[in-house]
Amino acid sequence: MEEKVRVRFAPSPTGSLHVGNARTALFNFLFARQTGGAFILRLEDTDRERSTPEAEKAILEDLRWLGLDWDEGPGVSGPFGPYRQSERMEIHRRYARELLGKGLVYRCYCTPEELEEKRKRLLARGIPPMYDGRCRHLKPEEAQSLIRAGRPASLRFRVEARSVEFEDQVRGRMSFDGRKIGDFVILRSDGIAPYNFAVVIDDAQMEVTHVIRGEDHLANTARQVLLYRALGWDPPRFAHLSMILGPDRTPLSKRHGATAVSHFREVGYLPEGLVNYLALLGWSSEDGKEIFSLQELIQGFSLGRLSRSPAVFDGEKLNWVNRAHLKALQGEKGLALARPFLRNSGLELEGIRESWLAAALEAVWTEVDTLSQIPDRVKFLFDEKWELESEAEALLAREESRKVIAGLREELRLVEEVKVENFRQVVSGLAKRAGVSGRSLYLPLRAALTGRTHGPELEKVFVLLGKEKILKRADSVLRRNGSERSASRE
Ligand code: GLU
Repeated sequence: MEEKVRVRFAPSPTGSLHVGNARTALFNFLFARQTGGAFILRLEDTDRERSTPEAEKAILEDLRWLGLDWDEGPGVSGPFGPYRQSERMEIHRRYARELLGKGLVYRCYCTPEELEEKRKRLLARGIPPMYDGRCRHLKPEEAQSLIRAGRPASLRFRVEARSVEFEDQVRGRMSFDGRKIGDFVILRSDGIAPYNFAVVIDDAQMEVTHVIRGEDHLANTARQVLLYRALGWDPPRFAHLSMILGPDRTPLSKRHGATAVSHFREVGYLPEGLVNYLALLGWSSEDGKEIFSLQELIQGFSLGRLSRSPAVFDGEKLNWVNRAHLKALQGEKGLALARPFLRNSGLELEGIRESWLAAALEAVWTEVDTLSQIPDRVKFLFDEKWELESEAEALLAREESRKVIAGLREELRLVEEVKVENFRQVVSGLAKRAGVSGRSLYLPLRAALTGRTHGPELEKVFVLLGKEKILKRADSVLRRNGSERSASRE
């Protein structure tokens, strides 16, 4: 019978979901969807001091926003629950006792202070810290006296002086030296299982078939493989994703700017754009294609095309990918997505026609990388926001420009309104009247109407503004240039 793929994403709710974790979630999700398997969400919240309900809520929200819905986990349930690690502590303890019974773990009475002291001493000598095995060989009477002294015990797993090997789907055969691992704690004296033990029990109990996670966990995997064997279970298959680096080639972190998924949402990236970009961090398609919908990613994804080399997070590339997704999304849906950004920007939207707003967005849509850039691009269309940038102002102060703007006023008197149909006529009339053409005509027009020297097509600007607004702007420009004669009395 073919094995059903079961993968999981196991964030610790101690902070926000950042791009590294989101990519891990995405690859697990893609693999599950492609194979018809299950995508499990498990919250690793046993660090009670650092885990918060707010972080948990935010992570779930970010995953949903990205479109990475889970088949089992918080909010959906499933046959392998509970899906919060803090609710599974009794299960962890049960297996810890089993290993104790088999003699594969021992009680350790070392205090945190003693351990810290030893750690420091090793570090000071430049030796990577490792437990020295003191309690491994305690005689019964020594143990008794520590117990009498009220020392609580943790459970420590015996690591043999052999190499630990496993096959990684990305990196190939991995080998770690058991002598450098040292005996490690699987149950703390407060009864809580640390990550390496809890994760093994939970992955095995949830019948996880593939563990796809960041390569910062490679050394943990060696410990986990030892635990699987001790428990008599087959380890899942592992695929460790290469690191994500910042542009300076150091591991991506806050130093490189915001990395939280929520940040990218707030500044107006599309979930489709971010997901697409994340997929390119460490994975590539066979044919070099780079723009994908989520459906296409599901079809195209394969573990075999994960890269071993680190991926560099490139904001420009993200913008490029996001723009491609924005382009595919116009009309009503685009308007709905842009509306909150327009509203927050303080533009006066009261009484504005839907169709006009849609046309305004359409005019600037291909110029923006993110939704949050839209208000700035359309604001010139609103009288209260129209102002001349210095370059436009300088251009309009020139006599030739003034002639064009004055001519525009005359020309507009000849038409009832400005429409797509008569735009050419107005412009060619104006060209004749002012005796200029090409850039000498278009630049002053653009500068006067938009306040800027670049922007959407002039025809669209004309139609969106309409005759009345254009005349007002022309008057204002001419007034600024100090000509009483050209000031409007209309
Ligand atoms: N809670 C761990 C983390 O966030 C999970 C690692 C794993 O996938 O095993 O790093």
